[in-house]
Amino acid sequence: MKRHTQSTLWAAVAFATLLSACGGKATKIPQHETEKDSALAESPYLKTLNMAEADVIWIQDNAEEKLMPRNLFADASDSLVNSLSLQNGIPSTVSTFLVRTKDGHNMLFDTGLGNADSRLLNGLKTAGVTPSEITILYLTHFHGDHIGGMMKGDSVVFPNAEVYASKTEYDAWMNMPDEQKSLAVKTMEAYKDRLHLFEFGDTLPGNVVALNAIGHTPGHTIFQTGKLLIVGDLMHGAALQMEHPEICASFDMDKETAIATRKRILKYASDNALTMAGMHFPAPAFIKME
Ligand SMILES: [Zn+2]
Repeated sequence: MKRHTQSTLWAAVAFATLLSACGGKATKIPQHETEKDSALAESPYLKTLNMAEADVIWIQDNAEEKLMPRNLFADASDSLVNSLSLQNGIPSTVSTFLVRTKDGHNMLFDTGLGNADSRLLNGLKTAGVTPSEITILYLTHFHGDHIGGMMKGDSVVFPNAEVYASKTEYDAWMNMPDEQKSLAVKTMEAYKDRLHLFEFGDTLPGNVVALNAIGHTPGHTIFQTGKLLIVGDLMHGAALQMEHPEICASFDMDKETAIATRKRILKYASDNALTMAGMHFPAPAFIKME
């Protein structure tokens, strides 16, 4: 099924013309290359990428089309925004990724918003995985659109998941003002018996390496396994930021560090021909660097 959504059109234009960031090239992976079987292929919210070590399943959490408002990117000039036809917003998603390794791990990366219309649990069902079969949960950071799906009311959604988060991120959030940290505190408390705090550079279960990507939040983490790089909130508007990593979204807590991180990670992904999976990339949220 070919969809002619705004993001598909944007992808065709932008990735053909723009992406020479860091001297490399990038291609948005065509939908037909990411579809595993006809059942998955029929869903606009779910795409599977078959990689050497694992199947990577993109699950879109947001039910409605998501455009990041132009005014989130105050650093972007009107002429740039207009030249890319992004005046009405930048195509985006709220995404999660399920990685099924050949040796039987079901690893989930972030959990979306946990809203009434969130699609993560439906997506897992379509992929044939129940919440109790998620054995490893990796968190890129503690914003509500990443940890919101861990709880339903006062109950944990993933009863058997070992949870991995950056110690730097955890410590920073626990020291934030009460009104800012309440979701993070409640959620981490609920999972505390299975919560593992890592340092950047650690190799974690499933052959996943946690990498420093601070700037967006104090302990923002990206994860690499094989040729896959799960980049969390490295970019909120890829159509702008792939070519202009110096542009921040207002969500970036430390802008200067976020810019340096974005440049460094894009170069790393390009130098190593990695496929990036981004929590706010346009659907389907993979970008292959070349
Ligand atoms: Zn986010």
